[in-house]
Amino acid sequence: MFWEKDIETMEISELRELQLDRLRTTLIRANATPYYSQLFKKISFDPTEVRTLDDIQEIPFTSKNELREHYPYGFLAVPRDEIVRMHSSSGTTGRPIVVFHTIHDIENWANLVARSMYMAGARRSDVFQNTMGYGLFTGGLGFHYGAEKIGMMVIPSGPGNSQRQIALMREFDTTAVHILPSYALHLLDVFKELSLDPKKDVKLRMVFIGAEPHSEEMRKKIENSYDIDAFNSYGLSEMNGPGVAFECPFKNGLHVWEDSFLFEIIDPQTMKPMPDGEEGEIVFTTLNREGMPFIRYRTRDLAYIYPDPCPCGRTHRRISRIKGRDDDMLIIKGVNMFPMQIETVLMKFPEIGTNYQIILETKEHMDELTVEVEILSSADDMRIYEQLRRHIAEAIRDEVLITPRINLVQHGTIKRVEGKAVRVIDNRDKS
Ligand code: ADP
Ligand code: ZN
Repeated sequence: MFWEKDIETMEISELRELQLDRLRTTLIRANATPYYSQLFKKISFDPTEVRTLDDIQEIPFTSKNELREHYPYGFLAVPRDEIVRMHSSSGTTGRPIVVFHTIHDIENWANLVARSMYMAGARRSDVFQNTMGYGLFTGGLGFHYGAEKIGMMVIPSGPGNSQRQIALMREFDTTAVHILPSYALHLLDVFKELSLDPKKDVKLRMVFIGAEPHSEEMRKKIENSYDIDAFNSYGLSEMNGPGVAFECPFKNGLHVWEDSFLFEIIDPQTMKPMPDGEEGEIVFTTLNREGMPFIRYRTRDLAYIYPDPCPCGRTHRRISRIKGRDDDMLIIKGVNMFPMQIETVLMKFPEIGTNYQIILETKEHMDELTVEVEILSSADDMRIYEQLRRHIAEAIRDEVLITPRINLVQHGTIKRVEGKAVRVIDNRDKS
């Protein structure tokens, strides 16, 4: 059993008390780090004087920049001897940052991941194949320890080598998989090449998808193609990795584990709190971390809070799926848009495969938007392509107000990378 009922369904008032208690401890710990001790002194903040959760509003935000400037040990709260593990971000947006964990931190992290997977329905009897990267990246080891805690048999396959992934699934009756959504879709092609049916020739029943933005339509495509349940898993290295927010069986928003993370949603421009239901940047404060506490860490990730309680009975609040990072926002011909909006439109066309790319260029001093998409099968009649191209362009224009050029390419044309999918190629003149 990994249903931590007392914590997961705790009365809200009790949960807030627990948070306050843990916040106090965290702030006192933070005061032992080179970075926060200096900051607290500068703003005359006394961590022993904290009375309410709102008191952290006095503390300035921490961002990736500070982490980079004070790399590697500026946020360490314990002697280095107490650290048992180091992890690092994937470096999607620049120089990777490092995070240090004590035994307690690793234990708590494994617990959060186990709790998350159990919530989604994973059990001891499951065979769990973890296709995420092992090593510095948090996706591999993070899920690994959580799955072992539940008592599942873990196949630490790591990423890539698609034929072998499928062979492992078949030989060991894998029932649950942790996978990048883009890779789950790519794997479908490999099933096809091997003349196998992912619905019948493997025993999969659930996947955990995360680490990169994906649309609801992408989830549905994965669920329908494999005939499985797909659960959204959100996390970031700075907050351990996976196990920060996760979907329950209702698949309607992700429960943020509030016993371990205090979170705020702010307007990224004014930095003021956003009301529930309105989109903003997620900001986290760790509540149960010894090695490297972070106070008001700006994730750049955009989401909103679901104000209503979840029918599953858990009291930890839910956030929407992540729309992307605020630096994913594209400004094309002066219009703002997110790659996710384009994906949402594309996935509604049954003729379209699972791989696409957004290409930006400058033509005669103007931005030009091209959406390159793979199509599933080839048609003899050119008019079919013409029609499809027009329909896609119109649907995208309705969504983002700009008419893109649509480039239909054969299945398998767009280069795939191991790791997080690259969806945007910006070749515009920067001058
Ligand atoms: P990097 O920031 O270098 O990519 P991480 O490996 O720590 O390093 O990745 C964390 C980031 O991945 C998050 O901040 C978020 O942008 C993205 N991410 C993680 N899980 C999800 C998810 N379920 N949906 C959308 N984006 C996600
Ligand atoms: Zn729920």
